Amino acid sequence: MQVSALAQISPEKPGAALLSLAGRGRAELSTHLAALDVSAREQRMRAAQLWHWIYHRGATDFAAMTTIGKDMRAALARIFSLERPRIVSEHISSDGTRKWLLRMSPKGPGDKGAEIETVYIPEADRGTLCVSSQVGCTLTCSFCHTGTQRLVRNLDAAEIVGQLLVARDQLGDWPGADRRNEGASLPDAPRLISNIVFMGMGEPLYNFEAVKDAIDTIADGEGLSLSRRRITLSTSGVVPMIPRAGAEIGTMLAISLHAVRDELRDELVPLNKKYPIKALLDACRAYPGLSNAKRITFEYVMLKGVNDSNSEARELVRLLRGIPAKINLIPFNPWPGTRYECSDWGRIEAFSEIVFNAGYASPIRTPRGRDILAACGQLKSETEKLRARARMMLESGIGAEGMFASSE
Ligand code: SAH
Ligand code: SF4
Repeated sequence: MQVSALAQISPEKPGAALLSLAGRGRAELSTHLAALDVSAREQRMRAAQLWHWIYHRGATDFAAMTTIGKDMRAALARIFSLERPRIVSEHISSDGTRKWLLRMSPKGPGDKGAEIETVYIPEADRGTLCVSSQVGCTLTCSFCHTGTQRLVRNLDAAEIVGQLLVARDQLGDWPGADRRNEGASLPDAPRLISNIVFMGMGEPLYNFEAVKDAIDTIADGEGLSLSRRRITLSTSGVVPMIPRAGAEIGTMLAISLHAVRDELRDELVPLNKKYPIKALLDACRAYPGLSNAKRITFEYVMLKGVNDSNSEARELVRLLRGIPAKINLIPFNPWPGTRYECSDWGRIEAFSEIVFNAGYASPIRTPRGRDILAACGQLKSETEKLRARARMMLESGIGAEGMFASSE
């Protein structure tokens, strides 16, 4: 059997209707604490204590906050909760990749709670969490499954941070926590989640303020403490927002390039009609702080017979001259109904060699979590299909476990 899966619904908690403080930024947290009947000085103190418990210790319950007096803990629990996005399902791939389908709290009457996906990818030297910034995407890249869905809405900052909180809860990745599957408490062990990439659903630069606020919380040294050097924003090329991302967010940048001629890129990434390749690369050249140690990643999806020739590899190298860059070759992940195919392995290697010989790192991204449909461009709608199939199987008396099992 290739796949193991764990279907798990986290129960609705009693505090679900209360305002959750989990995922809130410093300013927002202070604003909400104004609801407490205490002096401004005490509010500031409580905000600092809560910050520590929520983001450094990973508290999911006010009762655990032992540096805060009992009465105050009870007062907090009456008004607020520490609810995270709810886990609808968790799937674990045979390669260790985990994918969570998360349901956000309803935003108002009639809202059943938007669903998004978050993926954890363990590797030998790092553990990467791939987060979503929007529910769906307004852009319509022709090779991307997410692009075929309509945008439901932007995620807010708390919902973006919430994805990291849920992943840390599930992996036992808080100081002193028992690590799942390792059985032992490893307080000094390196973090399981060491890197974050905004490569899930959505275009992060079309949700700029929320992404910026979320990253401020994630990078805060007194809390989640993930360095901005270990956070990567991936954009399809929203050129006017790139200078702002450099000045105000300051993370690593990845550009979904995928083609070296405007005519082809117009077709693959329609946003190119608005912001063509030259304008995009000029914005990259001006990105602050670039050096050999801080390079821009250019993502290039390998599409058979479309963008994978040797001459395109050589043109790619020519275009990127002068930009500290690495080139990430992504084997295309197919989805039902797509007109594209993944390039043959030999073609990908030949392409990679040309780029490598020109002096660029050109790793071929190993597809991760394909068996649980967690790979790039496979998110969300596939899950919906599986759930529909699961319902069908349950109705016809077949166990849900049969759904994910596939033989070698
Ligand atoms: N919207 C942003 C970030 C999310 S997409 C962006 O486009 O950059 C993350 C990466 O996955 C992008 O490089 C995207 O082009 C790539 N991708 C999308 N669909 C894919 C597929 N079916 N196979 C391989 N990569 C895909
Ligand atoms: Fe949106 Fe990125 Fe998919 Fe394009 S590749 S449709 S920008 S998520």
